[in-house]
Amino acid sequence: MCGVIGIYGDKEVTPALWLGLIGLQHRGQDTAGIVTYEDGRFYLKKGKGTVQNFFTSKDLKRLIGDVGIAQVRYPTIGGGDPEDAQPFYTNSPFGIAMAHNGNVVNYQELKKWLLHERRRHINTSNDVEVILNLFASELGRVRQSSLLQDKVNTIFEAVEKVMEKVNGSYSCVCFIAGEGLLAFRDPHGIKPLKFGWEGKNFCFASESVALDTLGYSEMRDVKPGEAIFIDINKKVSSKIIKKAAPRHCIFEYIYFARPDSIMDDVWVYESRFKLGEELAKKVKARRIKIDVVIPIPDTARTTALSLAQALGVPYREGLIKNRYIGRTFIMPREGRKIVQHKLNPVRCEIEGKRVLLVDDSIVRGSTSRAILSLVRKAGAKAVYFASSSAPLKYPCFYGIDMQTRQDFVAIDKSVSEIQKEIGADALIYQSIEGMLRSVNPDKSYCTACFNGDYPTRISPEEIKQIEEDRMS
Ligand code: SF4
Repeated sequence: MCGVIGIYGDKEVTPALWLGLIGLQHRGQDTAGIVTYEDGRFYLKKGKGTVQNFFTSKDLKRLIGDVGIAQVRYPTIGGGDPEDAQPFYTNSPFGIAMAHNGNVVNYQELKKWLLHERRRHINTSNDVEVILNLFASELGRVRQSSLLQDKVNTIFEAVEKVMEKVNGSYSCVCFIAGEGLLAFRDPHGIKPLKFGWEGKNFCFASESVALDTLGYSEMRDVKPGEAIFIDINKKVSSKIIKKAAPRHCIFEYIYFARPDSIMDDVWVYESRFKLGEELAKKVKARRIKIDVVIPIPDTARTTALSLAQALGVPYREGLIKNRYIGRTFIMPREGRKIVQHKLNPVRCEIEGKRVLLVDDSIVRGSTSRAILSLVRKAGAKAVYFASSSAPLKYPCFYGIDMQTRQDFVAIDKSVSEIQKEIGADALIYQSIEGMLRSVNPDKSYCTACFNGDYPTRISPEEIKQIEEDRMS
């Protein structure tokens, strides 16, 4: 999962890029990067760390220019090495810098194709390098062969070639030296991308929350398959390059995005609230007696709140998260100990009570088991568990680090077997229909990690290859 931002402003953009990245930090904490451009030169700083830890004030002063792009990353393809940090740039045949959020499914095939057909060597395992080189190569060819003098149309033509070849999800921001800022989103619009403007300042960002932070009052979504280009005179051009049925990622609404974001016309907060109401119907059907509803912080809070309201049961913050403990090499590897370091129970809210814990999902089950045991040890009389999403069964190939089929506890177990495995007195899962009703019943979404219905073509060979890459 990643967060991207691109700004074309009327003054130095680095302070705004940095602030925007802070607003997107929840989308990735492994690497961060900013590239800016001024007077024929790119200024780049990228590497491992969070936005606040990684950039020094000296770095931020060095990154000059009124245009730039930036990214925070949690690795999918690529192991999260410093050289895999985004943005990337190329200088042939044009100076182009690019960052994206998503994942290229046919990465290996395109990497070989670029080497053999276009003599372009891919030097890292980051898939944006493939998109960047493909785009640069196509732009060069279109410019050579085209009778069109119009730069914008040649850029859109190159984006069209990219969309024809790249299979997967990609919300890209890119700067072409001396020409302007470009953004485009894959034809299904799997990953979000927002466009904001304020006078002569233009901004693309993964989530509206980054635009809010920067004071953009005008905004809209980049549509699925759309490219938007802002030239050096700040003229905005846009075009739907390739049309396909929209299939936005439903898990953005359940887990990834910030609740104060709106994406593709749906508020994340509202979706999570409705998820709780949907879950309440399922909990009521089980006829279990509950004294208190407790969210597993942070994502499940809104859902737990509405679930408690619908059940007429108190909502309590019975687990407190240590927000200062990140991922660190001194952390123990055992799930139970990680949970103990991150979460602490509020005994007075738990002791002697029948507790319903609410979480966004269950992946391997080990974290859920550790939390349940923590709550039991804190004196709960009974511990039930509700998941705001349906059982996760299939890997995501579009940019989320849900690795392989073997990662999912639900892949070969029934609900009652999972309940036993995690040690719950009852386990209640959301249904896929309930998820869709909560987000927007009138639209179709990507629900592939729940039902294997992938929006783009993925062959069994590609699945095998991706799983092998992820395990290596
Ligand atoms: S597979 Fe799941 S996580 Fe991945 S894009 Fe689809 S809904 Fe989102």
